[in-house]
Amino acid sequence: MAFEGGKPAILRLAVPVPLRRLFDYLPPDGVEPAGLQPGQRLWVPFGGRKLVAVLVDIVAESPLAQLKPALELVDSAPLFDERSRAFLHWAADYYQAPVGELYAAALPAALRKGKPADHWAEQWLQLTTEGKGLPETALARAPKQQALLQLLLQGGRQSRTQLKALGHSTTIIRALLDRNLAEWIPGPTVPPPITSGESAEAAPPELNEEQKEVLAAIPAAGFSASLLEGTTGSGKTEVYLRLMERVLADGRQALLLVPEIGLTPQTLRRIAARFPGHSIAALHSGLAEGERAQAWLSAAVGQADIVIGTRSAILTPLPRLGAIIVDEEHDGSFKQQDGVRYSARDLALVLGRNAAVPVLLGSATPSLESLHNALSGRYQHLRLVHRAGNARPPQIHVVPTLGQQLEEGFAPQVLRHIGETLARGEQVLVFINRRGFAPALTCDDCGWLADCPHCSSKLTLHRRQRQLRCHHCDFRQPAVNTCPQCHSRNLNALGGGTERSEDFLTHKFRDFPVIRVDRDTTASKQALDRLLEPARNGEPCLLLGTQMLAKGHHLPRVTLVVIQDADGGLFSADFRAPERTGQLLEQVAGRAGRGDLAGRVLVQSRYPEHPLLQLLLERGYGAFARQLLQDRAAAQLPPLRAMALVRAECEEPKWAEAFLAEARTQMQALAPPSPELSYLGPVPALLERKSGRFRFYVQVTAERRGVLQGLLARFCQWAEGNRNRRLRWAVDMDAQELS
Ligand code: ADP
Ligand code: ZN
Ligand code: ZN
Repeated sequence: MAFEGGKPAILRLAVPVPLRRLFDYLPPDGVEPAGLQPGQRLWVPFGGRKLVAVLVDIVAESPLAQLKPALELVDSAPLFDERSRAFLHWAADYYQAPVGELYAAALPAALRKGKPADHWAEQWLQLTTEGKGLPETALARAPKQQALLQLLLQGGRQSRTQLKALGHSTTIIRALLDRNLAEWIPGPTVPPPITSGESAEAAPPELNEEQKEVLAAIPAAGFSASLLEGTTGSGKTEVYLRLMERVLADGRQALLLVPEIGLTPQTLRRIAARFPGHSIAALHSGLAEGERAQAWLSAAVGQADIVIGTRSAILTPLPRLGAIIVDEEHDGSFKQQDGVRYSARDLALVLGRNAAVPVLLGSATPSLESLHNALSGRYQHLRLVHRAGNARPPQIHVVPTLGQQLEEGFAPQVLRHIGETLARGEQVLVFINRRGFAPALTCDDCGWLADCPHCSSKLTLHRRQRQLRCHHCDFRQPAVNTCPQCHSRNLNALGGGTERSEDFLTHKFRDFPVIRVDRDTTASKQALDRLLEPARNGEPCLLLGTQMLAKGHHLPRVTLVVIQDADGGLFSADFRAPERTGQLLEQVAGRAGRGDLAGRVLVQSRYPEHPLLQLLLERGYGAFARQLLQDRAAAQLPPLRAMALVRAECEEPKWAEAFLAEARTQMQALAPPSPELSYLGPVPALLERKSGRFRFYVQVTAERRGVLQGLLARFCQWAEGNRNRRLRWAVDMDAQELS
């Protein structure tokens, strides 16, 4: 053991491997323990490999006799502060995940691979206490020094690059340094500034009474949890902006979490235009590695004032955190579906409590989880029931399609309304829940169906690319013209997708542009932005697309929304499907009539009498969701119960099933089934085979979360001893998908 200054120093590290424990090492050769602090990264040898680990603790003793030294210290200063570390450890416990994997999930790729943070370091000039005490009129006799002082007083610390760009010479800076009015501090290079491209926003709208009440109800300090249930277009975003303004005025950082597809350039521009003097870090998957590391570092050292990010942004250290806002909190993308299966929305509340700051969850269609918490008084329940400005709620009509003469899936009166709307110079949005040309290709002579060779699913025909594609594993093969089974040429594309409707609508309404928006036409966020350009300019056009169109876009000239098929989610085996369908339909409908013009929504359905659909369309998502909550209570399902899935997948279905059967036996021995605790399975996942592996799960539902936690911890201990390398297993706490 290494003894430095008489004190043994053993490094306890979080290593990114699938084992639920920490690992002990000696300090790297030549590194003084005094220079080590929890939160720093080190290179360590691990099973013949070299991995980047994070220092968690420095201890005096290890249960192991033979310790290896770590290889190299990466960071001169910790990347993770104490609160952030405690938070990650809590999350690892809750989600039954290896803590090393949580640190890895928290880091951007470049830092996860061990790139030194100094790579992006920059010197920052900030005022000393003395400097801050000066009035802006000070230094009147040295105008250049005065200009620099004013910049620092008004704009906060400035990077060396920025100062140079603004023309402040080293001599002038030197003068302030010599008078002890300013000092250099190290920090990350700011990510390239997010500029609005437009001139700073015109004066923000004056809040209406509802908005004022909501804002006033959110406490300025201390932990609080609030659900803002605000109808589409009611001005929730405006409330978020005001809350952020308050946080910034307080000298703190605001964290805004948005769904994967919500982080559009339009969103960023709106925020940048509102807060021109502040630095904004955007964290999302569309960034290059270096950009993302820069943005992450500027958040983690407290440089960025506003951090906007998707799911993983919740894991970023934010030393000056002042509030957390989760926009579209019901969105499924907040839950990670592989690796560490955390929910960023749920973790936001944990972090808010740890940091003693307000947490605001907002949605027009709250998740049943959040609604339940609000109705039971655990969260403050805030409402915005009116649309902001002059906009009124859209009128909704159901169009029964059974027995109707449909033209490519559209009822005649729907087509008539589309034509009339376009002729009036307004815009139409058509929602279709499927991309590609057709979801199935079949042979009319022998009944052959194009199946994915790796999944239990059919291949979707993409006619533009002349391909058949699997939407689950991304398998692709050239489209065929003849049946591979009987060589007939009578192949039939069944059902419709966005491509097919695009062909039809382009032909039908040839005087107007048809804009298709789905994953195939919007490879990048910029592409989506460009596509929507004509729509934003206000010309009459027809927008056609998947749920990418449902969220976040504010297109005031859209006055007609058509939902081609409302029935998809009503008959699924997944108990969450009606909730998701209701959210989607309400969000899509909410794109209509957001400006001064009235909006209308036409919903095509084969089952217009379906009670849930009627409730949704007649009384809105609020009433619909409250009904679903009652159904969930009766069926003893979440959110009234805690639920976890123990999952396993394997090329050999028998092995996965047997493994889970044994897991269930183990857990039942510890806690037998009872009215408070129930087991189901092993059962096949809804998508039984994916990417060549058969997938099963055991579902455990419990009245008390603690009981569930104990069982899962026990399962993990047992499963870590599993020697079958071809079998993969996972714990999915608060599972959202049964697929
Ligand atoms: P939400 O996020 O609830 O869908 P937004 O915040 O995007 O709604 O607001 C919808 C529209 O109403 C936007 O154009 C916004 O600028 C405008 N708006 C919001 N609040 C007000 C207000 N108090 N007065 C006038 N217009 C407002
Ligand atoms: Zn055939
Ligand atoms: Zn597949």
